[in-house]
Amino acid sequence: MNAVQRRIRVSSWEALGGMGVEAEGRVDWWQPAWREGTGIAAVPGRFGAFPETRDEFYESASPLAGVSDSRSSSLQVSRLSGGWGRASLAGVHRVILHLDMDAFYASVEQRDHPELKGRPVIVGAAGDQRGVVCAASYEARKFGVRSAMPSRTAARLCPQGVFLRPRMDRYRDESREIMRLVAETGAVIQQVSVDEAYLDFTLLCGAESDDPEVVLERAVPQAHELQERIQRERQLSASIGVASNKLLAKLGSDFRKPAGLTLIREREKVAFLRPLPVRALHGVGTVTEKTLTDAGLKTVGDLQDHPGDLRALVGSWGPVLKRFAFGDDDRPLELGDEVRSISSENTFESDTEDRAVLRQCLREQAEDIAGRMERRRLAALTVQVKVRYTDFTTLTRQISVDEPVTQARDVYRLGCWLLAQHRLVHRPLRLLGLGVSGLQEGRIQQLVFRW
Ligand SMILES: [Mg+2]
Repeated sequence: MNAVQRRIRVSSWEALGGMGVEAEGRVDWWQPAWREGTGIAAVPGRFGAFPETRDEFYESASPLAGVSDSRSSSLQVSRLSGGWGRASLAGVHRVILHLDMDAFYASVEQRDHPELKGRPVIVGAAGDQRGVVCAASYEARKFGVRSAMPSRTAARLCPQGVFLRPRMDRYRDESREIMRLVAETGAVIQQVSVDEAYLDFTLLCGAESDDPEVVLERAVPQAHELQERIQRERQLSASIGVASNKLLAKLGSDFRKPAGLTLIREREKVAFLRPLPVRALHGVGTVTEKTLTDAGLKTVGDLQDHPGDLRALVGSWGPVLKRFAFGDDDRPLELGDEVRSISSENTFESDTEDRAVLRQCLREQAEDIAGRMERRRLAALTVQVKVRYTDFTTLTRQISVDEPVTQARDVYRLGCWLLAQHRLVHRPLRLLGLGVSGLQEGRIQQLVFRW
């Protein structure tokens, strides 16, 4: 598809609802520049907006994502902040893809340094240094090396590992190139991290068909073409899950990696979910997992068979969890602004550089942050520390990993590493803060690798 950007003036939300679009041209894809790497795609050839400034964007073009419901021939739109609403898609079989690049940072390094192909590449601090792993190639993962693990542990597990310093700018540039290819499919896109996105293919698959399986199957060749294009143009492999919702699409992309393409049919979804551990379900973190397994509910099948209400175990979330267990999920793509960060900080009564005090402080902050992430069912790609010295000089440093962290011990370890790496505690601190950003919906699973 030709990615020509032209401008359509959208006069107002009401005008769109009534088909009164004042069009100056057509948009094939569109990506706002001020939210780097976050794609908002207009439906190709239908309508769209290409505002030049952020203000213009919010003032004139709140309905950016559109869907034409061919049953009623009316143009339905959903506001940017609301994503795709269920109401606007009533009667339409959704087709959602989840695209996830395979071992992204490490694969970029292997592509850029062909001599590293087939070797266990570990991106992060060197194996003989205090530091952490940001990403590991599949060859390294075979040895149990995982993101957020101390580099020394990684070196012990995989002595032949090739340790490389992360090149975040390089990965971000690559991400932009990939998301450009993704946007050219014409899908509506929710980018969730540097190497991961949900794609709404509903319109591209002729959602008018009465048979949901037929609609889903139409996405498979398109997904395959996207994978091939990314491989051909970027020399990187991606895995894609195709299903009727985000929950299943994400499980699908994880199901067969690398370079996997997994279609989860509606009639197969209940059976597909049955053997998976409860942790595989979106939103089940460490605490919920323990609650469920303590109650004897270990697999998703156990949840399916559980006769009672899950509210007794997991509170008001129970009914949603039950629906997830049967593969039902009506969460829309999030196209608006979400929670951007969670942080915690302490000002000391008297300035201190006592390592034990600082470590204890970080540990408590990490617990606090991990607890808040779990309650909101979020996971973080970036950990940040903030220090303020006696003279009020304030510094922040951050690190990003390619597999989101959810647990207090990982947040804590990354925080400690940042303090040490940047030698931030060379004089007494007045304030110490810890934070996470790059938040995304909670880590789905650790099916294969656990440590
Ligand atoms: Mg990935």
